[in-house]
Order: sequence, then C-alpha cells, then structure tokens
Amino acid sequence: MGISRKNYIKWVTQGVTGKPPKPVSMIQWLTNMGRTKGFAHYAADHIDEIELSVTEFKNSEFEVLQWVEKRLRDYLPSNIQIPSTKLYFVFGSGDGRIFYDEATFDVTLAYVLGLENTKGMIAHELHHMARNKEYGDWTESTGAKFILSTLEAEGVADMVFSIHSSTLARQDLPIVTMMMQSQAYNRVDEILKEMDELVSKAYPREPNKNKLYRLFTKNAFHPVGHVMAQRIENCLGRASLVDCVGNPVKFMKAYQLSAESSNGYKFSSKTIGMIDNIFAK
Ligand SMILES: [Zn+2]
Repeated sequence: MGISRKNYIKWVTQGVTGKPPKPVSMIQWLTNMGRTKGFAHYAADHIDEIELSVTEFKNSEFEVLQWVEKRLRDYLPSNIQIPSTKLYFVFGSGDGRIFYDEATFDVTLAYVLGLENTKGMIAHELHHMARNKEYGDWTESTGAKFILSTLEAEGVADMVFSIHSSTLARQDLPIVTMMMQSQAYNRVDEILKEMDELVSKAYPREPNKNKLYRLFTKNAFHPVGHVMAQRIENCLGRASLVDCVGNPVKFMKAYQLSAESSNGYKFSSKTIGMIDNIFAK
C-alpha cells in the first residue's frame, strides 16, 4: 500500500525476529506471520469489514491527523518538531512500528482496535519518532541504559496513548486481546523494587543485563513506564514530565521526587547515584 517493498520486508523481518533483516519473499513472511499470530486467518475471514474500516479511516484522515498533532504537542518539548511522515496501513506484522522515516500499522490490528484506538496508536508511534529524531534511537542501546531509556520513552509515549489500558473495539482475535491486556499494571511497584535491588546490589558495577531483561518480559516496560510517567505528571505537573523526554536520567530523578507523595516505590540512594554513571559512558 505504498511503502517501499524493501523497507516493508526489512521492517517485518526485524519485528518478528529482532535480528538484522535478511531478504525473504513477502509471501513467505505473511505466511509465517499468519501462522504465528493468527492475523492472516482473521484477516481472510473479515476482509470486507477491514476494507470498510480503511475507507472509514481515510474519510476521517483530516480529523485524525489534527487530533494526533494536538495530542503530540501536549507531550513534546516545544523545540521538537512533529515529524511529517507518511503513514502506511499494511497486511502482516500485527503491530504499529516506525522504521526510519516511515510509520506502518497492521490493517487487521487497526480494525480490531477501532478508529479511536488506532488514532492513539499513531500518536504513540509518532511520539517515538519525534523523540528519536532529536535524541537518538534508544533501542540501539543495551543493558541498564536500554532498560531505563525504554521506561522513559515508552512511559511518556503511553501518556500520549496507551493501548494496554484501552478497550478494544473487537475482542474476537485472542492474540490481540492477550497482547493488550498487560497483567504487569498490578506489579509495577514489585518490578521497580526488584530493579532497584539488582542495580544497588551490583553497585558500583553495572547490573546483570539478563536478569534486568527478565524483569520486563511480556513487554512490562509499558505498564511500568506508564505508571512512572503518571506519577511524575500527577505530582510535578505535565511540564516536568515533558522536560524528561529524551532524558532517562531526568525521568528517573523526577520519578524519585514524585514517588513519596504518590505512594509509589522509592529507589535507594545507591541506585539513584548509579544512574548518572550508567549514562556517563
Ligand atoms: Zn511504544
């Protein structure tokens, strides 16, 4: 649907395997995706409704883009430009994703989410794009740096819009329902405590990468980062949260300031002391 074939294949490959893209046929990928996630079968069964939802989306394009722009402005520092990018709706992937200057969204996913949630998903992804253009792509970092950057980046983007705390328009594609209902919202303080212990025990060395990653399995970054961002906004105001965009150290310190009055888990001074070192390298 307009995206360059080369980029599309790269994007899907990276999304599925997490490994550097290697050339495969698009049909092969779509088949794999269908088998893994059930999207292809669902799409085949609902093709007419999906087509209608694309038309509905196109008809409200102007209103959608206006909403997205306003929402992004609420959570981006004023010096950061809203990226002008083309949005592509594609079959396959089961995801919303940015790939360099292109943003792609699975059309089946958009149908299941519904128009309102899809608007939000676009705004969330474009927030990542704007942030990364200004401050660099955090997903290229590793270890504690990666974890803390992800909490900041996903935390603020989830304030723009969080699919994990939204109601889906359609509940009949179990893989999406499962993906979106994150149980980790109930365990945020527990996860923060475990992260704190891993970091402070290793102090002054860096915490064990694999143990840190294990804490955030099943995409727990979203609920944890989201709740941290909510606490910052509630206690210190939105301007303070926006000031943390692209700066995980500020995000952690702002969280620490808000932890007490929001009754959230408060990090040890060892961990807070370690954060500057982690990013000094
Ligand atoms: Zn995100």
